[in-house]
Amino acid sequence: MFEMLPFLESKREGLEMPPETMEAFVKACQDGAVPDYQVTAWLMAVFFRGLSPEELKAFTRAMAHSGKVVRFPKNLLPVDKHSTGGVGDKTTLVVVPLAAACGASVAKLSGKGLGFTGGTVDKLSAIPGMKTELSVQEFIDQVTTTGCAVSGHSADLAPAEARFYSLRDVTATVPSIPLIASSIVSKKIAGGARRFVFDVKYGSGAFMETRETALKLAGRLVDLSKALGYDAFALLTNMEQPLGRWVGNAAEVNEALQVLNGKGPEDTTCLCTEIAGAMLLAAGVVDTWESGRKAVSSALAKGKGLEKFREMIERQGGMLDDEILAGEKRLPVARHIFEVRASRGGDILSCHARKIGEALRLAGGGRMRKEDMLDLYAAVEILKKTGDQVEEGELLAKVYASTEKALEAAAGKVESAFSIGSRTVKPELVWGIRDSRGFTPVGKSRGTCR
Ligand code: URA
Repeated sequence: MFEMLPFLESKREGLEMPPETMEAFVKACQDGAVPDYQVTAWLMAVFFRGLSPEELKAFTRAMAHSGKVVRFPKNLLPVDKHSTGGVGDKTTLVVVPLAAACGASVAKLSGKGLGFTGGTVDKLSAIPGMKTELSVQEFIDQVTTTGCAVSGHSADLAPAEARFYSLRDVTATVPSIPLIASSIVSKKIAGGARRFVFDVKYGSGAFMETRETALKLAGRLVDLSKALGYDAFALLTNMEQPLGRWVGNAAEVNEALQVLNGKGPEDTTCLCTEIAGAMLLAAGVVDTWESGRKAVSSALAKGKGLEKFREMIERQGGMLDDEILAGEKRLPVARHIFEVRASRGGDILSCHARKIGEALRLAGGGRMRKEDMLDLYAAVEILKKTGDQVEEGELLAKVYASTEKALEAAAGKVESAFSIGSRTVKPELVWGIRDSRGFTPVGKSRGTCR
């Protein structure tokens, strides 16, 4: 029987536990031998005391192996990309097929949105007929034959992690760097990918609000992956304002299709090129990030990402007609519309990502609790972003909701997201990359990324 009290006392005092004890603890939690109040006491102790690299490694490995582990054929080195969460982040819908079109095998496990951040599974569910939960065998078969698959995380992968996560969610212990790193890496390992690309976001719409804390998380993610035998990179990217022009589930599928058709907003196209380029590097398809970006840009221009997107969604039962795929027609947005206008002229100082994410939730497009129903067609369309100039009365954004009540609730939030003043600069989109050797800023050369 696992001795929980001395284990808790040790963490309270900041002592390090040996790997076998960490493994025994995860097993005891999984077997139901540790009550919630003791698990949460430990989580809070970790929040303040942290975990040593060895403790973190043992804890993560034990969670990763607490259920099924997807096993791909040995000759395949699938890559998975994981964003730490943001607003308007539809990059997965673009980079998964794009990297696969360039020769990478992509095994992408995704989650649902929670709180103010969106989730890929919800966006995919706006595609009629799309199966978003593949069985382990379907996932393996599709990655092996189509080159890519995106699936919701099935309950039999890393089940111990799910218990820790649900307790963190209700005890204010989510924003702990070792707990986030172990949560993400354990699920990536259980999902069978061999290489990981992390998109670690900083800013008002991210878990890590500052660059410095995001860099710490990136370092933990990369070093932990490496310690467990997996190559990984982390890109550090800006989430001060939403990505692209649209936030909302169906609306983000539309915008992803715009990108795949070469007509997407510059920031989203640029970030997708950076991430997919890094995925090619991680998968060993290219030798440098630069050549990855070039390969991706060329595939995008030839429509190869779009072709692969069609193949992927059809394989998962998704049905989009040709005009929608070509970006000529769109999946619908909700019918009640509110226009947000500038109260004065000037420069947009900020378009607060978190507030826009919260507005989408108030409009019905996000959930507070896992069981909440979503309005897939609720959306926020952002017409002006940081650094843009506006005249008094000019349109800043539009809110789309299915009921007047939801529209009214969301409208005020969107209004409060904008601040207008003078002399702002456009923020950088990609700050740099953290690999196992350290952090390299991308510098100012990436003009188009702004
Ligand atoms: N995403 C995860 O998967 N886990 C965390 O702890 C935070 C973000």
